[in-house]
Amino acid sequence: MINEQCIHCIYFKPSMFKPYIGQCLRLGITVVSKTEVPCSNFKEASIEELKNKLRRGEWLYCMNCNLVITDEDELEKHVGKHLVTSVPEIDEFIQEEAMPGD
Ligand SMILES: [Zn+2]
Repeated sequence: MINEQCIHCIYFKPSMFKPYIGQCLRLGITVVSKTEVPCSNFKEASIEELKNKLRRGEWLYCMNCNLVITDEDELEKHVGKHLVTSVPEIDEFIQEEAMPGD
């Protein structure tokens, strides 16, 4: 069963500390996976799609293990059991969240 949330889409790039918030690499916008229904560009992050990213030199990330995945052997240990995404964004999201009010 495919869980159609942005976080399961090949174009989703999560933020490091709030993984359900991320960037849509396709549309260039911020999305909240918990609440938003994926758009028509939704493409499941299947093992083949994830392997294609590795072949293009992009790294992946296992959300469950908090581990960067850099090759296909490593990918196969996690995919299917764990949530594998693009490597999380570690910059602007955090600063916005961390800033105290006035
Ligand atoms: Zn894992």
